[in-house]
Amino acid sequence: AVMPPLHLSSTFAFEDLERPGRYDYSRTGNPSRDVLAGALADLEGGAGAVVVASGMAAVDLVLHLVPPGGRVVAPHDCYGGTHRLLRARAGRGAFEVAFVDQRDAAALARCLSGGADLVWIETPSNPLLRVVDIASVCAQAHAAGAVAAVDNTFLSPALQRPLALGADVVVHSTTKYLNGHSDVVGGAAVAADPAVVDELAWWANCLGTSGAPFDAYLTLRGLRTLDARMRVHELNARRVVEALVDAPGVRQVHYPGLEHHPGHDVALHQQDGFGAMVAFEMEGGKTAVRSFVRRLRWFTLAESLGGVESLVCHPATMTHAAMDAEARRVAGIGDGLVRLSVGIEDSRDLIEDLRAALDGAVGCRGTAPP
Ligand code: PLP
Repeated sequence: AVMPPLHLSSTFAFEDLERPGRYDYSRTGNPSRDVLAGALADLEGGAGAVVVASGMAAVDLVLHLVPPGGRVVAPHDCYGGTHRLLRARAGRGAFEVAFVDQRDAAALARCLSGGADLVWIETPSNPLLRVVDIASVCAQAHAAGAVAAVDNTFLSPALQRPLALGADVVVHSTTKYLNGHSDVVGGAAVAADPAVVDELAWWANCLGTSGAPFDAYLTLRGLRTLDARMRVHELNARRVVEALVDAPGVRQVHYPGLEHHPGHDVALHQQDGFGAMVAFEMEGGKTAVRSFVRRLRWFTLAESLGGVESLVCHPATMTHAAMDAEARRVAGIGDGLVRLSVGIEDSRDLIEDLRAALDGAVGCRGTAPP
């Protein structure tokens, strides 16, 4: 077979008592899942990968590296689900969590002086596309004796490889660019150290969060076009950003490819591209956003990102609704913020769609809300 076959079997025959073959039970190990794990480890430059049922399962897996009563230092503006999980586990006494703006080296140093077992990094961040210097935050984490983990979901290994910049673990929601077709929910953790890979694999088996073989098969199929997709995604995103920057009703565009973006220089240095996630602030707040998204034709109002199709989302009421209002205020996620996952359609259609929806949007550009 040119393509690796799909092994759906939940169980595998033993040769004899006490003599399992290479595989015994699919929660513990499965050939289809292993092909995906090997490919992800290669792409990220890790010793191995553990493929699980969702991005959140991958985040959770890495949190199991934190000893009881330990301390996690995380970005104040991370993905809402990660924020919720960290707070929920901390609330139950599993560990202590401190949220900090990691772009502020002094604030991070102060935070780390309280001790840390795990430093969580997410760059570019969801949804504001803030960029942190991975090498420098990892160095600070290591000096404090902590493991450094990077959520690389927004760029994929095609555009950023955190292990080469000093991270110990990379986490992915494979639901996003790695699969790329919005038909799988999955996750993976890749580690630099084989002992950490083994520990993560042990937990995935123990918790029962291992990914399904069919999902691994589909994700591998998506992965084969990752590089080609990312090139078109990014080209389209650049064109969309150009159109948005001067568009009436748009107050600010967040995209690391813009020269005046505060993280532009770091992004240039540590990324191989700027990706295709774009956020912008609309004048007129939620009223304007509601009116805008109702008028869109090619951008579907939906959570998630990284699929071939373009999506639009309102982080305050969708992806980041799990954060309380105060945490959203601190992170800078306002009611007028819109997030786009720019797909690989014809960019002219996308730009025309955005322009028409902005033109007609009620509540922005001084148009009175009804
Ligand atoms: N990390 C980031 C940056 C995400 O955007 C998401 C989901 O949107 C996740 C993790 C969680 O992934 P999943 O939805 O596959 O559980």
